[in-house]
Amino acid sequence: MQRREAFKTGFSLLALVAGGVAVGTQYASATQLPRLRPPGALSEDAFLTKCIRCGLCVSACPFDTLRLAQFRDNGVGIGTPFFEPRKIPCYMCTDIPCTEACPTDALDKKALSEQGSYDINKARMGIAVVDELNCVAYLGVQCDACYRACPLIDKAIVIDARHNDRTGKHAMLLPKVDPTYCTGCGKCEHACITKKAAITVVPRELVVGELNDNYVVGWQEGGDAKLKDADTNIKMDLKKSIKALDKGVEL
Ligand code: SF4
Ligand code: SF4
Ligand code: SF4
Repeated sequence: MQRREAFKTGFSLLALVAGGVAVGTQYASATQLPRLRPPGALSEDAFLTKCIRCGLCVSACPFDTLRLAQFRDNGVGIGTPFFEPRKIPCYMCTDIPCTEACPTDALDKKALSEQGSYDINKARMGIAVVDELNCVAYLGVQCDACYRACPLIDKAIVIDARHNDRTGKHAMLLPKVDPTYCTGCGKCEHACITKKAAITVVPRELVVGELNDNYVVGWQEGGDAKLKDADTNIKMDLKKSIKALDKGVEL
């Protein structure tokens, strides 16, 4: 994806709030910890059904990234594995020992496999969101700590160079997350230099939307597949259509 395109789809807290998404209040003011599960975890409800709280994934993790939730870990589900990337991120082991160790498919090996081998980049543990109010790059200070820390540099995070309108000099080098590639490993959050991280990984279901079926994104690969069974015999009355567009008249 080109930087420009990535900017358009980049995830940021400011944009989400401006767009009416309540992630700010859901996440920032919540006392619950975000439920960031190990690689390959099923959707939350299915995961909670399948996970037997055995802790084998936690024992298999060589970086002590994972731990089993206790009573004080509000919102996570006692005994279930999760991680807090500000403390220890997922180091994206290529052999994915946590998932391999899972005896129940709560961590789905198939979802992380490509032609018989593991591909950790297929993990979708969460998604990184930039807080544009507190990220120093948005103040005009040069910082690329999150960008440099990302294992998928220039894919999951790109730098969008902008003119600094406030000073009229220099460029602002802004980190932008591309949800297509972000795995939610949290290495960016771990590396962030601000007192409280200005880039945070949150569960994808909190911030990722879903298009209605009637939208066709024709320029994406396979995007026009929805047109396969479309009725091509529909005749459009151009005059009527223009009138409807101009005046909002029903067709
Ligand atoms: S991929 Fe590696 S670092 Fe990440 S949770 Fe699994 S074992 Fe731990
Ligand atoms: S290994 Fe699987 S079943 Fe056991 S705690 Fe981890 S996710 Fe749950
Ligand atoms: S969560 Fe991981 S993959 Fe996503 S932007 Fe941060 S470092 Fe990159």
